[in-house]
Amino acid sequence: MQRFIRFAAYLWASPYTLTGITIGLLLGGRFQRIEGVIEISGPRIGDVLHRMYVPAMALTFGHVVFGQTTAALDITRAHERVHVRQYERWGPAFVPMYLLFFSFLYLKGRDGYRENPFEIEAYAVDDFQTPDSD
Ligand SMILES: [Zn+2]
Repeated sequence: MQRFIRFAAYLWASPYTLTGITIGLLLGGRFQRIEGVIEISGPRIGDVLHRMYVPAMALTFGHVVFGQTTAALDITRAHERVHVRQYERWGPAFVPMYLLFFSFLYLKGRDGYRENPFEIEAYAVDDFQTPDSD
């Protein structure tokens, strides 16, 4: 039963995971697999993460985590694993829900990133408290 649940979680998040793998290949990232999660880093990935609306050391897409560097992946691992679990729970609805909370908070003049319930849950598990982690 446990194996079936793990398989279902991977399947549920797979549209984002496959997108992440494709982006990683297109950007020529360095792939590593840690605890069932694919981590991808490299100069082009770092450049993209750095230019985002909220500059990020790392960013999760399903079971793929992008990092500016392998060191950034190490630093943000606990935080990003919470996002992996969120993708497993929400599946295809994760990104729309994340953006919905972000937009709602932003339109109310609040911080769509820091006050986002998905980020609050992720920041609760690590001591890494800079706004660079996503
Ligand atoms: Zn985050």
